[in-house]
Amino acid sequence: MIHRPRFHPPPHIYPPDEWSVVEKRFMPALVEQGETMFALGNGYIGMRGCFEEGGPIGQNGTFVNGFYESWPILYPEQAYGLATTGQTIVNATDTKIIKLYVDDEPFWLPNVNVRSFDRRLNMKSGTLDREIVWETPAGKLVSIRSRRLVSFEHRHVAAMVYQVTLLNATAPVVLSSEIIANEPAPARATHDPRQAKVFTGKVLHHRQSYAKGQRIVLCHATEKSRMILSCAIDHVLETSCQASWQTHATEDAGQVVATIEALPQVPITLMKYMAYHTSRTAPPQEMCARSERTLDRAVADGFSTLLSSQERYMQDFWQRSDIQVMTDPERVKAPAAAVQQAIRFNLFHILQASGRAENSGVPAKGLTGQAYEGHYFWDTEIYVLPFLIYTAPRIAKNLLRFRHGLLDMARERARQLNQRGAMYPWRTINGEEASAYYAAGTAQYHINADIMYGLKKYVQATGDEEFLFEEGAEMLVETARLWHDLGFYSNRREGRFCIHGVTGPDEYNAVVDNNAYTNLMARENLRYAAETVERMRERRPDLFTALAHKTGLDTSEVAEWKHAADQMYLAHDHLLGITPQDDQFLELEVWDFAHTPPEKYPLLLYYHPLTIYRHQVIKQADVVLAMLLLGHEFSADLKKRNFEFYDPLTTGDSSLSPCIQSIMAAEVGDMAKALEYARVGTLMDLGDVAGNVKDGCHIAAMGGVWMIFVYGFAGMRDYTGQLSFRPALPEALECLRFRLLFQGQVLRVSIDRDTTQYTLESGDGLSLRHESGEIRLSPDAPSVRRPNQTVSASGEVKNGPAE
Ligand code: BGC
Repeated sequence: MIHRPRFHPPPHIYPPDEWSVVEKRFMPALVEQGETMFALGNGYIGMRGCFEEGGPIGQNGTFVNGFYESWPILYPEQAYGLATTGQTIVNATDTKIIKLYVDDEPFWLPNVNVRSFDRRLNMKSGTLDREIVWETPAGKLVSIRSRRLVSFEHRHVAAMVYQVTLLNATAPVVLSSEIIANEPAPARATHDPRQAKVFTGKVLHHRQSYAKGQRIVLCHATEKSRMILSCAIDHVLETSCQASWQTHATEDAGQVVATIEALPQVPITLMKYMAYHTSRTAPPQEMCARSERTLDRAVADGFSTLLSSQERYMQDFWQRSDIQVMTDPERVKAPAAAVQQAIRFNLFHILQASGRAENSGVPAKGLTGQAYEGHYFWDTEIYVLPFLIYTAPRIAKNLLRFRHGLLDMARERARQLNQRGAMYPWRTINGEEASAYYAAGTAQYHINADIMYGLKKYVQATGDEEFLFEEGAEMLVETARLWHDLGFYSNRREGRFCIHGVTGPDEYNAVVDNNAYTNLMARENLRYAAETVERMRERRPDLFTALAHKTGLDTSEVAEWKHAADQMYLAHDHLLGITPQDDQFLELEVWDFAHTPPEKYPLLLYYHPLTIYRHQVIKQADVVLAMLLLGHEFSADLKKRNFEFYDPLTTGDSSLSPCIQSIMAAEVGDMAKALEYARVGTLMDLGDVAGNVKDGCHIAAMGGVWMIFVYGFAGMRDYTGQLSFRPALPEALECLRFRLLFQGQVLRVSIDRDTTQYTLESGDGLSLRHESGEIRLSPDAPSVRRPNQTVSASGEVKNGPAE
């Protein structure tokens, strides 16, 4: 049993549909939540799923990845080295609005008589579609159909089509399409530290604005971060009814108004094209010209061309990335289509957060909300990257390259903190540390090792040694230096290499000594750095010399890294037979779970950090995560004991936790728990498990959903550079199918209750492991089927039938 009472996701309210998330009526109570769920994005532009007509609004939001404003962090009590500049993703110019008036009556959802309603996030076409029939007070029936997209192919483009048809009457129809900068921020009642800073006053300062024809161009700049945003809209109207236009632009807004004499049954179709460009250096005039050129092309192509390219992109995405399951509705307590829908919803939002995130990271909420300020965390490398590495390695590489671009700032930060090497910020947009609470921020040194872990996984899965040598190695040298400098050989620990004063993934135990996760990951980082540098020296002496020159690397350092890694302090508690999370953890008093009512979770909102820190209570998987990432460092018995010890202490107050707990539950054979956590993880957003989906999607948890199926139920492991599988389907899961891109080859994995089939769909040959046996796939013999070892809910292991 999972002890935490809040862990009972409400059955999600959206009707089962494998390819769409559908609302069949307007639900005022779910407006804010819907804005997140129905958000569209391409990794560069993000638009919350607000209603076309501009309201009703919960938290309106349009975001451009990496477009932020900075602000001074003011500490009533200063201390040396604390982060000084906050960064917050800006609510950018809004272009989504098209207001509709029929007979001068506004169409405003809360007040109108809706005869039929269908709004769907269409995951097959990558669009948000809506169809409504409105009966006006005068008895006129108006069909309103709209569709919008944020283009994956054209990074700077979004578009919508808004079609109005009077079904049984004539009427004057007005369509007012708008563009607005500096929309007022919503008033907030809570003090949730996870939400974004609210700026007082205008964030976007006018630089240029003009209208021409049905086009409006606005250009604004932020004051402190000195970034420029140009944003423009253009329109095309298709109808045989008579129409006239008015266009108007001010500093912060613009309107393009079409007035049409609507005839019965004659459609009026307005196509709206939107362009976004951001820069640090280009002057406003140039930025306006960029948006105009983008619009020229979009208008010339037309909506249907944009739509077909979106559909093609999505088809390719699903072909590479889909996870297909068949579930037993009785055991899952949900129709099979609902499970498939939930999985796809997660995968779709990861794509929307990352697809065109070029020269930027993946914000914790993607581009669906402003919470966590639009910052990039370790979420990217540990939770999102595995999915990308195995389905879209080019995107994974862009993200790693982005980290490489931040290396100089990470070096600078290490200097500030009197440390050698480089220290990546715990949370950032522009590369500077933006974490104001150092104990749960800067102290999470593990981010250095997390990024290097992502790099290693990427290189192993793609064989991209060129990237490793050209860019990765430099990051490895500097992060290894940091670890070597940060830790020390402790006489009190038999001369072992100890790392003190850090925070591990579990933010409920801060600034601790020898956090097991950190020490293990640092060791991995040190070893990979040493191994890479040595391989480079041997294979690419030219690049090695350039690296040594650039980083001032002395070969004696490599020996020091290896020594620190070999001597890394890793504790074992003999009494309990487990890995202590850190030096202090086992000394603490156990949290009084029995007397903590459900409404007191997440604890971080109801207890002072000191109260939390002095207890054995865990926010999110820590040792348990280390057992997944570096599973070969733990024996099977130790994994089981660790899991059984830490799992009941884990609140899951972070959405990053249930996925990892599910995977490790599956590994230790607790299939009931694996399934229950999988349910929680998969419904994190669709079922609003954490109760804050209104603030944005939990992108790391969404990456975790892919991991639940691939690492959890398919039991994939990839420590050594070879893929191995140990499928263990819970009884509720009848089959599981997915593809992986591995070293340029496409592997299809099809797991049924008794057997698993591996098929090489393209590539010249692959060897992998199933259970303890080796399999070789080749173009001549591309497919192999093997029996599964099944694990019953009680953990009993049986062998499946032979082939
Ligand atoms: C988690 C972090 C995570 C951050 C952003 C926090 O609640 O504890 O591990 O990086 O959210 O998702």
